[in-house]
Amino acid sequence: SSIFAAVEMAPRDPILGLTEAFNADTRATKVNLGVGVYYDENGKLPLLGAVKAAEKVRLEAAPARGYQPIEGLAAYNQAVQNLVFGANSAVVRENRVITFEALGGTGALKVGADYLKRLLPYAKLIISDPSWENHRALFEGAGFTVDTYTYFDPATRGVNFAGMKASLNALPAGSIVLLHACCHNPTGADLTAAQWKEVVEIVKARDLVPFVDMAYQGFAEGIEPDGIAPRLFADAGLDMFVSSSFSKSFSLYGERVGALSIVAASKDEAARVLSQVKRVIRTNYSNPPTHGGAIVAAVLSSPELRQQWEGELAGMRDRIRAMRTGLVDKLKARKVAQDFSFIARQRGMFSYTGLTVDQVERLMSEFGIYAVSTGRVCMAALNSRNIDYVADAIAAVLK
Ligand code: PLP
Repeated sequence: SSIFAAVEMAPRDPILGLTEAFNADTRATKVNLGVGVYYDENGKLPLLGAVKAAEKVRLEAAPARGYQPIEGLAAYNQAVQNLVFGANSAVVRENRVITFEALGGTGALKVGADYLKRLLPYAKLIISDPSWENHRALFEGAGFTVDTYTYFDPATRGVNFAGMKASLNALPAGSIVLLHACCHNPTGADLTAAQWKEVVEIVKARDLVPFVDMAYQGFAEGIEPDGIAPRLFADAGLDMFVSSSFSKSFSLYGERVGALSIVAASKDEAARVLSQVKRVIRTNYSNPPTHGGAIVAAVLSSPELRQQWEGELAGMRDRIRAMRTGLVDKLKARKVAQDFSFIARQRGMFSYTGLTVDQVERLMSEFGIYAVSTGRVCMAALNSRNIDYVADAIAAVLK
């Protein structure tokens, strides 16, 4: 018989399943709040002007497509370090940080996970409760036992910071802590700068290993303020891992542009770590693709394109904020009993709204509004044409 005879069907990805149901819905007023991408005011995935300009130059130069180095494009990796840590930071100046171009944020997490498993085979890994749904699967796939730390507080729809600190303080030394730099997915609840300082103190005192996942740098407040976590860890002199993604901030989802950065205690240590991570990459996909990294590097290294990109990034950030405050105001105007002001305090693309499974189901069946059953909605899927309809629908299912 076939070697596949006993293979079971894997469970469907819940979010992709939602998109399929949305696509099949024939109602003209339908809205998909389940997505994990930024849509513009016209409900479209944007192609940024800065990206278009860099692509035009590249197309005209028509470069040959040779293999890249295992670690990727040097100019790209340098630009990423400058974004994450600051060009004048001690870790960059002292060559203590090494960066690898990776296949999106997911690819960066995976390379980091595989290397960490070789480096610290017995370490336990913990993620926030809840976290991006791929975190657990990815780290378990790399061989880690994955636990959670207290994070979201359903009462305030913010962070349960006392609970988080208690969880971190109870970890054995050497545990790896996965932290969301900003725009926490799926809740939208972020730490304040003062809270980050406390987390850094605990991580240092308890000898934990920070792995900062930065998939939304620039979507909360701006490049520098959103980089507070890696910068504070670096200033505290800690070894750390940072995964970056440019899927959202450059709207380059399908090009798979991300990076893994690792900070070591010395230049010499960093060089040895570099040689080991290259082995991980070499046996996995050998070297990264050329196009996306070349475009991001071109934008970041040209003062004009960089300025244009920062303007476009601010435009995306401001539009999400406007949708957040708009929804809060519109729900208030519809006299709903609940206080939704937390939506304006949460940051990034997502909000844990507190809508129940039943309410989410009613949004879908009665209004053609699709959201994740946890109540997570994508604020970047709202626009001035659908926001009133969504506010009406939410007010209706709350009654
Ligand atoms: N990490 C978090 C927290 C995310 O939300 C995402 C994407 O949704 C990723 C990583 C993965 O990013 P990429 O699409 O670049 O692989």
